[in-house]
Amino acid sequence: MVRVSNRKRVLVTGGAGFLGSHLCERLLNEGCDVLCADNFYSGTKDNIVHLLDHPHFELLRHDVTFPLYIEVDEIYNLACPASPVHYQRDPVQTTKTNVHGAINMLGLAKRTKARIFQASTSEVYGDPEIHPQQESYWGRVNPIGMRSCYDEGKRCAETLFFDYHRQHRLEIKVARIFNTYGPRMHPSDGRVVSNFIVQALQGKDITLYGDGSQTRSFCYVDDLIEAFVRLMASPQEVTGPINLGNPEEFTILELAETVLRLTDGKSTLVMQPLPQDDPRQRQPDIALARQTLDWQPKIRLEDGLSKTIDYFRRLLAS
Ligand code: NAD
Ligand code: UDP
Ligand code: UDP
Repeated sequence: MVRVSNRKRVLVTGGAGFLGSHLCERLLNEGCDVLCADNFYSGTKDNIVHLLDHPHFELLRHDVTFPLYIEVDEIYNLACPASPVHYQRDPVQTTKTNVHGAINMLGLAKRTKARIFQASTSEVYGDPEIHPQQESYWGRVNPIGMRSCYDEGKRCAETLFFDYHRQHRLEIKVARIFNTYGPRMHPSDGRVVSNFIVQALQGKDITLYGDGSQTRSFCYVDDLIEAFVRLMASPQEVTGPINLGNPEEFTILELAETVLRLTDGKSTLVMQPLPQDDPRQRQPDIALARQTLDWQPKIRLEDGLSKTIDYFRRLLAS
């Protein structure tokens, strides 16, 4: 087929979700033709409504567990509900999305010779025996638990990516993403950042699970998207898996206090039981990303939280 435009044609699956909508925006700004494919399982049209009039943006209601025959140059495979509340609602569909979705997108990449990016997760490390986890760590995952549809689904997708790479010479890019936050996070998905901000803005109690001494590291969405684009553009031999996240560690209590200060909130901190198997610590080792992508997060927690608070303020007022 003779092509008229020389714009890069990029497919973003899960493009109506939190991360996907920011990625679509970024790719349009870079002059790509963006096709967003989403079945709206956990994402919403509201996340991309501002892009619908863009001449180089196209929205396709599509479930990646079904084949998709189109012409593309690059594929970002993000389709999969990310929060436990969402992915445990229909665990069989979660595994299908991860596994059948990966097979279909890899088949599409094989036919079109497109480069393909996989949004994998720190959850592939499961309940790790070592801290922090380097990419060479194989993980410790329960194959039959409530989280397995997500963890094992993502692990199987990684296997498929590396087998298509070895067997069919596909150009693959596998990113293991750690906790990320920012505007367009789902307000009721139970994640700590959205929970605390919504609680603070509504003057409700802030629910600290345990005493709040457990730590997490939070990456602002713009920093993460920068890493996605760099990884996609990296030399062919860079396949990943590569950890992406922000290594700066905070206690959950510090997070609660910062949110309260930034919202000028009057909420009370209340302690609730710590969920079973709640990790004491999670911090990405991003040495490989620093070295191969010359990338590290730039946005400070307070700055990222302020932008996220502005978003939730508008959302709650609408
Ligand atoms: P999200 O739930 O906001 O977005 C996922 C999108 O995929 C949604 O729009 C949803 O409707 C869509 N989707 C789900 N199943 C689909 C299917 N079968 N066909 C087509 N579309 C489907 O989640 P997110 O936070 O934007 O996560 C995006 C990706 O990044 C996911 O693959 C997730 O596993 C991964 N990830 C995210 C984080 C994070 O901190 N946000 C961390 C690790 C990995
Ligand atoms: N596929 C797709 N779009 C394409 C090519 C393939 O959705 O453009 C799907 C198709 O459903 C197929 C899967 O990807 O089952 C895997 O494709 P592959 O060529 O690897 O395997 P095969 O077609 O031999 O099953
Ligand atoms: N958490 C909390 N209050 C909440 C939600 C979560 O104290 O309202 C804690 C939770 O127990 C965990 C941390 O915050 O220690 C991060 O939780 P989240 O579900 O956001 O992410 P993950 O545990 O997957 O890192």
